[in-house]
Amino acid sequence: MGKKISLLPDIERESTKVINDFQNHKLREVLEYVNARSPYYRNLFFANKIDISKIKSLEDLKFIPFTEKLDLQKYNDDFYCVPRNKIVDYITTSGTLGDPVTFAMTDNDLDRLAYNEAISFACADGKPGEIYQLMTTIDKRFMAGLAYFLGIRKMGASVIRVGNGIPELQWDTIMRVSPDAIVVVPSFILKIIKYAEENGIDYRKTSIKKAICIGENLREQDFSLNLMGRKIKEKWDIDLYSTYASTEMATSFTECGCGCGGHHHPELIITELLDENGNSVKEGEEGELVITTVGVEAMPLVRFRTGDIARFYTEPCKCGRTTKRIGPIVGRKNQMVKFKGTTLYPAAIFDVLDNVDYVENYYVEVNTDDNGNDDVNIIVQHIHEVNFDQNNFLNDLKNKFRAKLRVAPNVTFVNKDEIKKVCASEINRKPIKFIDKRKKQ
Ligand SMILES: [Zn+2]
Repeated sequence: MGKKISLLPDIERESTKVINDFQNHKLREVLEYVNARSPYYRNLFFANKIDISKIKSLEDLKFIPFTEKLDLQKYNDDFYCVPRNKIVDYITTSGTLGDPVTFAMTDNDLDRLAYNEAISFACADGKPGEIYQLMTTIDKRFMAGLAYFLGIRKMGASVIRVGNGIPELQWDTIMRVSPDAIVVVPSFILKIIKYAEENGIDYRKTSIKKAICIGENLREQDFSLNLMGRKIKEKWDIDLYSTYASTEMATSFTECGCGCGGHHHPELIITELLDENGNSVKEGEEGELVITTVGVEAMPLVRFRTGDIARFYTEPCKCGRTTKRIGPIVGRKNQMVKFKGTTLYPAAIFDVLDNVDYVENYYVEVNTDDNGNDDVNIIVQHIHEVNFDQNNFLNDLKNKFRAKLRVAPNVTFVNKDEIKKVCASEINRKPIKFIDKRKKQ
């Protein structure tokens, strides 16, 4: 058993200045640590003539080059800061070139992970004594499921490790053990609702009061529920909390009951939000999340580019926390499209198409046109109706795009088989909806 922790750490209710000073101090510790222990960072600092004693604050971070996903892949072992016999757990995460990256965690890293999830679950109104049903994988080399297990235990609550899929087993467990909460990918909630409806399970009368939702956005940029969030809520009125995390960060950003962004934990991670030129974005603007882990022993990362685009919110939260919050992920940086002068992400295009009842199947294809610009084409399944007037649908769809995105991509209607040919994937369970055929510069 580990030592008892505060589920609402003092630092998360301090003034911006106190939090910044605290993080400046943590940053210097991290840099000293990686300089002494990480072959990768020692080489990086040496090759770039960086004297880490001159990096004193978060503002000085800009003098250190980024760590890219590709670096993790190419120099994987050089990131390890401990000998092999100190490693307790190995994890893999997908790389950009297909080869996975292997992450390692020490005993202290597992404690840190437990702490991170304990305060994150507590942030999502979690309490000791509750029962959580894990609808996520705990093995298969993933970090997340194990992190949730450790964190729920640390918070003083109970866990049922059901794992992903198998709606029948999920409902059987809910009926048998009466958990208070589920930890789940939100689209899977819709699946278990459907299963319950088809099998006469009165899901609205079960013990479940809330869901901690992972992996997919639940909200629009204004924090109102998105289509999926609304679909869940309409069917099943439980409390929904969104959480955002990744293996590289080994840290979560979890919403409190106010549902206005995932709270930052300054004792666990240093964050930057940067524009395309690597400069900090202005308050309220979107940028790429770049992170430096705090307190990680085996594989700490300095200025790692997550590729995730998001916004920060800095006004103090009604829950009493003064830490900044991260908004719903806008999209992936490498999927950013510049179309007719407007920056778009596939998620925003999907959102328009998912909200149109006459569009059932579709995919989005991006090409490079003759002038070197991005060209967006939406391929939609042909509608079989007696009085089918393609132009009506086309105009309506284009108007919806203009209203939401300010620009209207090209739309082509094809039959169902043609869509299937493109979207069905052997490897992914989810259908492919975004096809990037752009020429790389
Ligand atoms: Zn809050």
